[in-house]
Amino acid sequence: DTTLAAPESDPNKARTVPLLRNFVDGAFVEGRVRFDNVSPVDGSLVARVCEADAATVDAAVRAAKRAQCEVWGRMPAAERAKVLHRIADGIEARFDEFVAAEIADTGKSQHQARTIDIPRGAANFRVFADMVKVAGQECFEMDTPDGRGALNYSVARPHGVVGVISPWNLPLLLLTWKVAPALATSNCVVAKPSEETPSTATLLAEVMQDAGVPAGVFNLVHGFGPGSAGEFLTAHPDVDAITFTGASATGSVIMKAAAPTVKPLSFELGGKNAAIVFADADFDAAVAGTVRSVFSNCGQVCLCSERVYVERSIFDRFVAALAERARALTIGRPEDGVDMGPLISREHREKVTGYFEIARAEGATFVTGGGIPAFGDERDAGAFVEPTILTGLPETARTVREEIFGPICHIAPFDSEEEAVALANNTDYGLAAAVWTQDIKRGHRVARQMEVGIVWVNDWFLRDLRTPFGGVGLSGVGREGGRHSLAFYAEPSNICIKL
Ligand code: NAD
Repeated sequence: DTTLAAPESDPNKARTVPLLRNFVDGAFVEGRVRFDNVSPVDGSLVARVCEADAATVDAAVRAAKRAQCEVWGRMPAAERAKVLHRIADGIEARFDEFVAAEIADTGKSQHQARTIDIPRGAANFRVFADMVKVAGQECFEMDTPDGRGALNYSVARPHGVVGVISPWNLPLLLLTWKVAPALATSNCVVAKPSEETPSTATLLAEVMQDAGVPAGVFNLVHGFGPGSAGEFLTAHPDVDAITFTGASATGSVIMKAAAPTVKPLSFELGGKNAAIVFADADFDAAVAGTVRSVFSNCGQVCLCSERVYVERSIFDRFVAALAERARALTIGRPEDGVDMGPLISREHREKVTGYFEIARAEGATFVTGGGIPAFGDERDAGAFVEPTILTGLPETARTVREEIFGPICHIAPFDSEEEAVALANNTDYGLAAAVWTQDIKRGHRVARQMEVGIVWVNDWFLRDLRTPFGGVGLSGVGREGGRHSLAFYAEPSNICIKL
């Protein structure tokens, strides 16, 4: 049985589409209100989705609270780790279904879904299951005036109920990046995936059920942000912590919603990431890496480069080479083995093409792209856009300052290392940077000066899940990854014993 849930008839297309339900206290529940999940490839209906109302979110939070107190919080770490490995096994056993569901929602390439999204979804559970089994705590002996001393040790304390809110660009990967460590540290979870990408999250709930995860430990609520499941979750007094990945403006709204109950927050937000290419770089590697860092997932990775700074002596050659590679990218249906799928939705395409207009008004030179491809078939009802390279804008241009989140970059020349550093850091964001140079000292020197959470030297998007991940400025609050995740989801409390 490969259906996501009980099928429901779609009157428009006279075919059955899945009905994606909420998952509360170990059971799938429907609710009255439904919304459509539409394919960005051709506008067809992918699924109908049950929107969680306030009562459903409340039931999910209550179930999570009870399960945390009575079951999950009492389970030994090694037992919890076994359950998490069973979840990873379950994802791997239904690998092709997860790939198909992720592609149906996003239109992303087969290659990306098969090599990044779904494997990382399973890996997230394995990594944190293994970490929590061996995680230790601090211990400090101290002197006291009476000479007998005291012993301090810390214990990791889970928050209780963690609200997880995730975006649409890497749906399963980013959801599990938070669900896995939250569960590993014995919290229970109420997760709200993006309304654009509800399918793999629903499959994950099925996997949880099949893996024997106790009822209430993992709950899934579908819906939107304001006035919907997202807001109900962030404002709920019994949600003890919120972990969010998404736009910076949304982070600001969630921060306000969480303020009255002073909830701990972890935010992974937007970026306007720079790539710096020095003349001493391996030219071909820098071009290939920048093609990836600008156009992967149709430019919809928070880590993507939207600002490329190239040393003047190789500027023209680099722009020409990148443009040639961009023009050669194949665009279309994921099943046709193309390099680039569509943007996530027509609405998002309007935002991206809106920036094409802004860039034109700002006086940009369009080296390539800047339009919407015409296919002459049903893909014209999708959300495709051309890979786009701009030059000639001042640093003050909106196109150079604001996150666009599409397959687009602006390339500008620089003359010195100091200038390159200053240009890269001249942003309100601070998520990631890529530095291309064969001078090892320069690589270290420049990387340390980047005011961001993650720097790659001579690569991009190479991720070790034990490393700290997060941003500065508008790009986020806090760090997750490895022990940083464990420290966020289960904060240490100190116990001081007088000897
Ligand atoms: P978004 O902020 O619009 O939505 C993200 C999630 O928040 C969705 O589930 C949405 O329903 C929910 N939401 C929206 N308003 C809400 C509210 N008022 N209260 C509660 N929940 C609310 O972001 P998006 O468009 O889905 O994702 C793209 C953005 O995410 C980009 O800015 C991108 O840079 C960022 N992102 C950051 C990272 C990172 O690790 N730093 C990773 C991926 C994406």
